Amino acid sequence: MTRITVAKGDGIGPEIMNATLEIIKAAGAQIEIDEIEVGEKVYLSGNTSGIASESWDIIRRNKIFLKAPITTPQGGGYKSLNVTTRKFLGLYSNVRPCMSLHPFVETKHPKMDIVIIRENEEDLYAGIEHQQTDEVIQCLKLISRPGCEKIVRYAFEYAKVYGRKKVTCFTKDNIMKQTDGLFHQVFDEIALEYPEIENEHWIIDIGAAKMADTPEIFDVIVTLNLYGDVLSDIAAQIAGSVGLAGSANIGEECAMFEAIHGSAPRRAGQNMANPSGLLEGAVMMLNHIGQTEIAEKVQNAWLKTIEDGIHTYDIFKEGISKQKVGTKEFAQAVITNLGNKPSILKEVSFSKDAVLNLPKYVKKPSAKKELVGVDLFVDWKGTDPDEIAEKMKRIILENINLTMITNRGIKVWPEGFKETFCTDHWRCRFKPTNGSLMTKGQIIALLSNAQLSKIDVIKTENLYEFDGKAGYSLGQGQ
Ligand code: NAD
Repeated sequence: MTRITVAKGDGIGPEIMNATLEIIKAAGAQIEIDEIEVGEKVYLSGNTSGIASESWDIIRRNKIFLKAPITTPQGGGYKSLNVTTRKFLGLYSNVRPCMSLHPFVETKHPKMDIVIIRENEEDLYAGIEHQQTDEVIQCLKLISRPGCEKIVRYAFEYAKVYGRKKVTCFTKDNIMKQTDGLFHQVFDEIALEYPEIENEHWIIDIGAAKMADTPEIFDVIVTLNLYGDVLSDIAAQIAGSVGLAGSANIGEECAMFEAIHGSAPRRAGQNMANPSGLLEGAVMMLNHIGQTEIAEKVQNAWLKTIEDGIHTYDIFKEGISKQKVGTKEFAQAVITNLGNKPSILKEVSFSKDAVLNLPKYVKKPSAKKELVGVDLFVDWKGTDPDEIAEKMKRIILENINLTMITNRGIKVWPEGFKETFCTDHWRCRFKPTNGSLMTKGQIIALLSNAQLSKIDVIKTENLYEFDGKAGYSLGQGQ
């Protein structure tokens, strides 16, 4: 018996959760349930996180969380409970299988069968944003080596255990050479440990286009958080419907399972919603807690029901479907099919041995870190790069020179183009003249000089080398 936490959520949430629980219990799932309240009611009671602290205690104690979609109220101040849960509980891996159910659910991609494994904690989802000048706001993209190693290893282990042949990595490392570059580099390193699995890397733009056009050439896709978010909704939709896909959020200790879609408030309370997405999440949960026989039974009964043409409105199609049913009737049809297997769709067979080998991350020894310069970011309302260069030269120190100015990343001094559009946000790079190291004291002296010269420094970034390798990007055009 496994004790799990259940939240019925908002909108269509309670209906699809009741249907899901009814099916898995009828299949013999050995679960005990603690129900908690999350979402709209909690938000509107004045709790901006959408969840009470006692509920966190239950989630942390049970470690397994089955969650229906929730409604995040419109307007500022309400934190996304999904993002908070993933990060609080260290659920670093988001797994979204997207498989076509051709010829029973209409799709342009009858052979599609991909699993998107999305990094779930880092990237722009750190949500660290600052307005720095009238014109410019920044959002920090944070990528860590542990984060990359954990998700890439997860993808290869998943492929190995579930008999997948290929893992494809999507990044934009032709532009983001440091952050996406690290993800790609870690992918190449870890791929070497799995010679039996094919590996490849695509630049995300053409890769995404290819996935939307010819998804059958992909198998497992591993990518960063934001790309994975966008890509997995596209993948679910082109496979048939967002209403069919489930997702698992896996961490070292806890895991959360859900549908990928939202609370569809317009369909709430009408016995219309398709419970399949949440049911698919629950099947992943049953596999995760080792109840593989039950998971298999539920999945095959679900496939058989889809094959029988018993469809909810979202996938119902004259000529393909046989019977349009509501949420409850769909659940009853799946229950009636428990023990049956599909005959045209591929039946599943899950193994108890399908356990991913995911050792705890061990920290690496530190590299030799040397300070080799500093970027001062300045709010300046002028437009002529030569003018700001003259101002900045006034603050230089003995042996510390101004080497470059960029605006939104593109070099504008020395030798910029007059055509380049400049905002009020300037990056001024200072480096020692003779290639020697810089000190923190010199940075403070530069800042003091800037203050005396009434230069509005809005932030600084130190330039480091790690074991002699530059840990910062060049200016574009440098
Ligand atoms: P949505 O996914 O709720 O709905 C998009 C469309 O898909 C709608 O036309 C809806 O009717 C349809 N649809 C979705 N699930 C369906 C199902 N199971 N059966 C049949 N049709 C289904 O997206 P939205 O309308 O943008 O968002 C509604 C609310 O859900 C918002 O408050 C949003 O914040 C929230 N949301 C929550 C989650 C989550 O809790 N994981 C995820 C996404 C959105």
